[in-house]
Amino acid sequence: MSPKRHPTPLSGGDRKALRKELQKSRGVTLMLARQSEDLRTRAEAMLREADKLSCESWNERMWADGEPIDPSPTVDQAVNGGFPWLQIECSRCRTPRDIDLAALKTPPTTCVHDPATRLRCEKCKNAGKRPPATLLQMVPKARRDPFAPEG
Ligand SMILES: [Zn+2]
Repeated sequence: MSPKRHPTPLSGGDRKALRKELQKSRGVTLMLARQSEDLRTRAEAMLREADKLSCESWNERMWADGEPIDPSPTVDQAVNGGFPWLQIECSRCRTPRDIDLAALKTPPTTCVHDPATRLRCEKCKNAGKRPPATLLQMVPKARRDPFAPEG
């Protein structure tokens, strides 16, 4: 793209004024871009904090009453808020399970409780039962690394 051309004013004073205005405009361009960047950074930090609080609020509700599970934060809010794992347990045999929310094959705008309530315990499935999962809390890390060697 060729640079924009401003028609050259006839008088020397007008040419000087144009140069000054162009310089000022270029300075404002940079200043506004930096302000926008700063504000975006602050907004992203505030969103992360809002997502974190939303997860903590849901955790408190689960701890105090265990319901209602709906509404719950969305998967991307949980990940963004630093709570990418959901602890659940089987309502029948109480086998615990940690769900890696980021690895779920659901859209990131899905509420956390939605896919979690459709998960079924493998142990009970083998016994011919399909008890629902009890949702416990969202956490920053899994209880134990699923890939850690047995020991
Ligand atoms: Zn079970």
